[in-house]
Amino acid sequence: MRVRAYRFRAYCSKTTARVLKTQLEVACKLYNTLLHAKEEEYEENKRTMSRNELRQLALDLRKQNKEFQVLYSQVAQQVADRFYEARQRFFDGLANKPREKKPHRYLSLVYSQKGWKLSNWREVGQGKNKKKKARLYLSKIGFFTLVIHREFPLERVSQVCVKLYPSGRIYVIFLVEEPEAEEQQSEKPKNAVGVDLGITRLATLSDGRYLENPRPLERSLERIRLLQRRLSRKKFLSNNWIKAKRRLAKQYEHVKNLRRDLFFKLGVLLSQKYDVLVLEDLNVQGLIQKGVTKTRRMRLYDSSFSELRAVLKWEFRKREKLVLPVPAYNTSRECFLCGRINKGLTLEDRVFLCPHCGFTLDRDLNASLVLLKRTGWVPPAVPEELRPIPPLPSLGLKRRQGVAMIQEAPAFRRGSSHG
Ligand SMILES: [Zn+2]
Repeated sequence: MRVRAYRFRAYCSKTTARVLKTQLEVACKLYNTLLHAKEEEYEENKRTMSRNELRQLALDLRKQNKEFQVLYSQVAQQVADRFYEARQRFFDGLANKPREKKPHRYLSLVYSQKGWKLSNWREVGQGKNKKKKARLYLSKIGFFTLVIHREFPLERVSQVCVKLYPSGRIYVIFLVEEPEAEEQQSEKPKNAVGVDLGITRLATLSDGRYLENPRPLERSLERIRLLQRRLSRKKFLSNNWIKAKRRLAKQYEHVKNLRRDLFFKLGVLLSQKYDVLVLEDLNVQGLIQKGVTKTRRMRLYDSSFSELRAVLKWEFRKREKLVLPVPAYNTSRECFLCGRINKGLTLEDRVFLCPHCGFTLDRDLNASLVLLKRTGWVPPAVPEELRPIPPLPSLGLKRRQGVAMIQEAPAFRRGSSHG
């Protein structure tokens, strides 16, 4: 089973928002209480508590302590689950040891099957802006108005999560379990596209098209810096600090939304046209750490390659199309035509010029074609004149001609064929 999330913006009255905030604080306290209880148990008896024990403990705490009674019982149990899962990730070596949570970082509550109800469905807006609105009741919290901008299978919802974003906006997320769609390859895929991700051009497609990197973070950096400076002058956790923090978070959310919007648009575009997506398997974290200069590191971060890859993969898998990750090693230095490595290629070189066969091509386009070639087939998406052919002997003169050619014709051409 695969879990799919549907996220909707939620609006509520000030009172309800305040109730939600109080409950988040209480849930945070409960989480920390469980953490301490577990530590004490371990000190005394050298054993760890099971999921059910933690759940029971959460319920007992709720019974004994009036403060915790503001939480819906299943929400309290879910706090226990959250702690259990955090601890499990620590045991599996995937995360650090769960620590005490800070109230301003504990931002969501989860309802399972019970405790929530959708009602009062209605259509609003006209034409393109047509969407549905509905009223969501969350037990012990209150009513929210949801903007349901897309269809979702209400009868298969397994969890409802209400989340307060650092910017102060509230979203409600419905988790729906879906049967896993199997990647079918019964008939031979018709066309494939290789996508090379980069900083200057966010994505270069093997069909010769590319997408500029809009660098959303870089564009709003000035404002982010200003807001960050203001935040740093406020007293930690004071009212003014919270306000400044929220303004900063809003700006960051804006950047994030711009990015996601672009990624999804690209994903839809590609997955509608192509049957197979070929991507390089990158270690992005390593790339960022290795980034030579501060600007380069930031641009790598701003490009969010992991997120872009995840979105592209998701869009293809959703349409039951194939995604092929290819080892990234040397993709940008390998010659598409002769397969040999251009050792002299630096980060600044925008044009790939093969010292062995004289092949000249835009650097990123060459990389995306190499990706495609590594999957083992010559797909029709590659322009006819660029299909792999036996390498030609290289001569100094021809190489220089190659450079001249890319200037007169910015499109791709095989350098030595015109020698
Ligand atoms: Zn070559």
